[in-house]
Amino acid sequence: MASENTGKTLSRQDVDFNLFDVLDIGALTQRSLYAEHDQEIFGAVLDTAESIAASHFQTFYRKSDIEEPQLNNGQVETPPELAAAIAAFTEAGFMAAHAPPEDGGQQLPVSLLQAAYSFFQAANIGASIYYFLTVSSGNVIRAFGNAEQKARFLQPMLEGRFLGTMCLSEPQAGSGLADIRTRATPQPDGSYRLKGNKMWISAGDHEISENIVHLVLARIEGAPAGVKGISLFIVPKYLVGADGKPGKRNDVRVMGLNHKMGYRGAVNSLLSFGESDDCTAYLIGEPHRGLDYMFVMMNEARISVGLGATMLGYAGYMHSLEYAKQRVQGRLPDNKDPTAPPVPIIQHGDVRRMLLVQKCYVEGALALGLYAAHLVDEERSAPDAAIRDESSLLLEMLTPIVKSWPSEYCLEANKLAIQVLGGYGYTRDFPVEQYYRDNRLNLIHEGTNGIQAIDFVGRKIRMRDGAGLALLADRIGQDIRKATAPALAEFATQLRVDLDRVLATTKDIIGNAKPGQMGRYLANASSCLDMYGHLVIAWMWLRQAMAAHKRLDAGNAGAAEAFLQGKLAACRFFYRHEMKRLDHWLPIVAAQDATVLETNPDWL
Ligand SMILES: Cc1cc2nc3c(=O)[nH]c(=O)nc-3n(C[C@H](O)[C@H](O)[C@H](O)COP(=O)(O)OP(=O)(O)OC[C@H]3O[C@@H](n4cnc5c(N)ncnc54)[C@H](O)[C@@H]3O)c2cc1C
Repeated sequence: MASENTGKTLSRQDVDFNLFDVLDIGALTQRSLYAEHDQEIFGAVLDTAESIAASHFQTFYRKSDIEEPQLNNGQVETPPELAAAIAAFTEAGFMAAHAPPEDGGQQLPVSLLQAAYSFFQAANIGASIYYFLTVSSGNVIRAFGNAEQKARFLQPMLEGRFLGTMCLSEPQAGSGLADIRTRATPQPDGSYRLKGNKMWISAGDHEISENIVHLVLARIEGAPAGVKGISLFIVPKYLVGADGKPGKRNDVRVMGLNHKMGYRGAVNSLLSFGESDDCTAYLIGEPHRGLDYMFVMMNEARISVGLGATMLGYAGYMHSLEYAKQRVQGRLPDNKDPTAPPVPIIQHGDVRRMLLVQKCYVEGALALGLYAAHLVDEERSAPDAAIRDESSLLLEMLTPIVKSWPSEYCLEANKLAIQVLGGYGYTRDFPVEQYYRDNRLNLIHEGTNGIQAIDFVGRKIRMRDGAGLALLADRIGQDIRKATAPALAEFATQLRVDLDRVLATTKDIIGNAKPGQMGRYLANASSCLDMYGHLVIAWMWLRQAMAAHKRLDAGNAGAAEAFLQGKLAACRFFYRHEMKRLDHWLPIVAAQDATVLETNPDWL
């Protein structure tokens, strides 16, 4: 078996730079919601995450790929290290770190926690899914469940005794959840009987916790058709008695495991509910509001997916960077002496290009993920109601980009990491191929990137009469106006031009979003999302360049000099090379090009 990679998978310096220099999350401690904390606590949280990620998650990343979960006699077997990792995560307080003190939590800022989670994701993405689903599904129960449900299910989830899942997809209904078939029948005691199948369920069954709490979308008999008739239920693997202990086995069974290209550390299952007509379920909130409840939590979940994609890209970047410093091969073009020793490949222009592209993508995506998480903090804690509303609107606007851009471009970074290692990168002796395979999922789950594009172009840029788009443009404009230093002028000037070009094109096409013409309007949604994605990442790079320049200008960069210069160099590369892609996307979007629609399915 290939040995485990013990190298760094995420730069702590970059995380700190984003949190403290770019976002200034220290200022959050002035808000009443976070007043219990100080910057020292924030640092300690990151130290703990970094340390446990290295000691308990990274140590079996390769093993979890090779020894993927197995279904034996109805039981799912996972490597023992998985249970130990989740236990270490819980013992360090991370399972409840987001929760309010009345639930036994620490109410840590979302931006800090997403940064902390990033260390676990970079170390072992498959193992991270177990706590991610538990925290997300627990948040749904906290927001919409009743007191009994919170006591019976949420509390043990916060203690890490019960783990959660999200059961939305069915074999015939993935992107189109309106077509789910799982049925719920009311019972005299107020509970429901569930019957149906759920496909692709991550962490759907295992033996690493006392119980599993499934959040399941289903239709109550007689419910209206479509998404307005979907309700949300809690379905425990074991029924929980009044004493809070798991008791009788509920009628939910794992019918099979999906054997995946990557992400193999995460069990993925086909679940059957009510095979023996005895599956007990508890309705969350009101009937027919299930999708609304799930989507309230989606913005945060999609930040995690975006950051997960970023972390796989980041880990590949770090690995290929180290490799490029060690591996010697060839001589520089201007050296004609065949007896001269070969040089480390980082000396070659093309290898440095591949590293710089990766750096632009992964560090740009990290900045975006943490910016989005900070918007959640603003939404929850800003003293001014107008700022809270704006943060919420901006987050909604950005969410499709936060999910899709990192999954597209950090996968591209993974491709380049393999390329930097040459033939070695294509073998299983190095982790870069696993990062690539693992990252391929992120374009698919939590809403495929195609669906994100339709959401962005069809809904987000038009919502509230364009208020979200206007707010985004205003926030970018504010930063452009602040970037007054001559060293930043190149970026600020170009971003202004590109922002205006994108806005003008959007204004030209938006009127075409009319009933009967939506197919044409959405035909190039993916190009439009790409265009906005690059624009937003260029904005993130300007913000990073401003923070780097501020420290360099103050003359006290010290040991951080190279890191800060690296930020300016990557920003320059993004503007000079990557932003040229707008010249490709803009005309396609502006023309509302209909080539794809005019191509008859029979011709394909
Ligand atoms: C490893 C893994 C883990 C997962 N974990 C979970 C989980 O824990 N819980 C859960 O509920 N689900 C989970 N999923 C399911 C995931 O969310 C779905 O796979 C995803 O939503 C896509 O659904 P589908 O696979 O049925 O593809 P389809 O919906 O059939 O889509 C196929 C293709 O058609 C495109 N398409 C579909 N509809 C449209 C449209 N209207 N317009 C344009 N294009 C369209 C899609 O973009 C896609 O490219 C997981 C999936 C995987 C692979």
